[in-house]
Amino acid sequence: MICQRCQTEIDPGEEKEHLGRLLCEDCFMDTLSPAKGCDPWAVYSAKNLEQQTGGSITLTPLQSEILGILERTGGVEPPGLLQELQGKLTMPQLEREFATLRHMEKVRGERREGKIFLRLW
Ligand SMILES: [Zn+2]
Repeated sequence: MICQRCQTEIDPGEEKEHLGRLLCEDCFMDTLSPAKGCDPWAVYSAKNLEQQTGGSITLTPLQSEILGILERTGGVEPPGLLQELQGKLTMPQLEREFATLRHMEKVRGERREGKIFLRLW
């Protein structure tokens, strides 16, 4: 099985389907924050903003809560994070918040024993 995005060999059973494409877990994880790599402007603005504000970006209460959960848990799978947020967000909304936080380099995805964990940067 070959990942249709990065062309890496995927271990049997490890492949993920996203929008009709078979992806390796890394690429699948990237779909959580689709702007990575193809939206340098967003990264630039976030960094620029951080400089302008002296290193502290104003986070929304939800974003602060997400960071707090990741700090407390040391990393959590997306469904676990949703659970911790007690229904305040749907998965698509969480993906958007996560993408924003990832642009700020506050959070990132990590693969642990074949599972995707969200953690602090
Ligand atoms: Zn891939």
